[in-house]
Amino acid sequence: MSAVIQAPVKENEIVSYNPATNEEVGRVKNFSAEEVRQAVENSRKAFQVWRKTPFAERRRIVMRAREVILAQMDEIAKLISDEMGKPLAEAMSAEIAPVLDLMQFFAKNTEKMLRPEKRNIGLLGLMGRSSKIIYKPLGVVGIISPWNFPLSIPLGEVVMALMAGNTVVLKPSELTPVIGEKIAEILEVARLPKNVLQVVSGDGKTGSALVDANVDKIMFTGSVATGKKVAERAAKTLTPVVLELGGKDPMIVFADSNLDKASSAAVWGAFTNSGQACSSVERLYVQEKIAEKFTRLIVEKTEELQQGPGSDEDVEIGSMSSETQIKIVEDHVEEFRKSGADILTGGKRNESFKGVFFSPTVIKGANNEMRPMREETFGPTLPIATFKTEDEAIDLANDTDFGLTASVWTGDLTRGKRVAEKILAGTVMVNEVLYTHGIGQTPWGGFKDSGYGRTHGKEGLMELVAPQHIHINRFLLTPDVWWFGYSKNAVETFKQMSKTFSSGSVFRTLGFMPQMWKRIKELTKKKGE
Ligand code: NDP
Repeated sequence: MSAVIQAPVKENEIVSYNPATNEEVGRVKNFSAEEVRQAVENSRKAFQVWRKTPFAERRRIVMRAREVILAQMDEIAKLISDEMGKPLAEAMSAEIAPVLDLMQFFAKNTEKMLRPEKRNIGLLGLMGRSSKIIYKPLGVVGIISPWNFPLSIPLGEVVMALMAGNTVVLKPSELTPVIGEKIAEILEVARLPKNVLQVVSGDGKTGSALVDANVDKIMFTGSVATGKKVAERAAKTLTPVVLELGGKDPMIVFADSNLDKASSAAVWGAFTNSGQACSSVERLYVQEKIAEKFTRLIVEKTEELQQGPGSDEDVEIGSMSSETQIKIVEDHVEEFRKSGADILTGGKRNESFKGVFFSPTVIKGANNEMRPMREETFGPTLPIATFKTEDEAIDLANDTDFGLTASVWTGDLTRGKRVAEKILAGTVMVNEVLYTHGIGQTPWGGFKDSGYGRTHGKEGLMELVAPQHIHINRFLLTPDVWWFGYSKNAVETFKQMSKTFSSGSVFRTLGFMPQMWKRIKELTKKKGE
């Protein structure tokens, strides 16, 4: 047996391990607060040039970066799987494929989406005025990202920020820093100019230093607890923040659903990425009359899943990301047990492997009073509760502090849409589950404790620009009636203005004209006196 000799860890170094095998994946530098400040300063200088780079050139760079990813697809998928634990199949389907689509979409459409926009200003338009909105890049955008989708979350945000004309400083999770560096390498090979994107790897302190560094926006994705700390700290420098936080996403299954399809969706929605997706199904509500049959289908399908190191192409459930994460899952499963729920399958670590593996777990008899139905688990557990009526299902789904996504299953699309609109979540899917973060064209973000602001879609792009209003008055000679020179006549003018002009009606405003002229004459006479 040959012993693996590891180089000693240096003080400013982070070692990244494969959570499925405990083997080292790589080492990166742990950036200090001073180095983060320096990176932000470099970014500010680079911004002065990048902001003027034409859209066509930004587009060429992003499209080249896609080619780099396509050329290294197998290697990148393996790195994601090794560093984070997910199956190779999911590294391709849930990270590489969606981010490539997002890249081409924003490369081709950002210019159009940020085109100056003329605004209808109503009757003021008839008075020689016009308004247009132009969209300016913000400056330096700080992106702080989690480990669960270590390529697609940060790279998608980086590309959107760059296309909008910003420069970026990215702090990836300390559990997946090598992928963070890979993102920098991809864009470097695509010939992105120096310092337009910088990756500052490190731990929570590095993230915190980035929040303090007076960047122009923080795009944060992570837990509610850290999100609150980030918002509090950012408030000190009035740095605007987008917070993409956790979820406790419900799936509602009505009796008229296609049970075979809905049960497969539930199993995938709860267990893909080992349940470590912010939009994982964490609460399943099934209509009472089909609960037994539906639960049986779920257990059968769960027991067929292949678990193992993600680098094996047939593996469906990889390892979890860390000992910290698996302990939360153990605590929640134990709490379900103690509260009287039944563990139908799984319920414990899978000790057949070296790393942190938890067997996919189906739990029956859950209810909203149980603690793990209220806190984010972020692991491979599927707790099932029942409901009788549509109203009850909606109430149960909304009975949570979170509101990221939700899923409604029914053969009756009218009911599906009706229920969807009553659920408080950033995305509600009818007969679909979990995958909409992969649609770069649509807004992503949550209600309630799931955060605020949006990434992706036009709404996400708008988070990365400052709208500027340019207002022009083409009447060069006449004064505005509301200017100084107040008098009885002025007050009468404003009264009539409130009743006519402010109605938005051209017809009523015609009646205001004589009084308006009287006021203009008063003002011009006063000026001439
Ligand atoms: P964390 O909140 O622990 O960390 C997120 C990022 O913040 C990491 O890069 C982390 O660094 C960094 N960080 C830690 N402390 C600070 C600090 N004080 N100031 C600034 N940055 C800090 O989340 P996880 O990485 O554990 O990710 C899992 C969470 O992310 C889950 O709650 C999940 O629901 C949520 N999530 C939300 C998504 C959404 O779109 N809504 C998508 C994906 C995940 P380090 O890793 O070094 O600690």
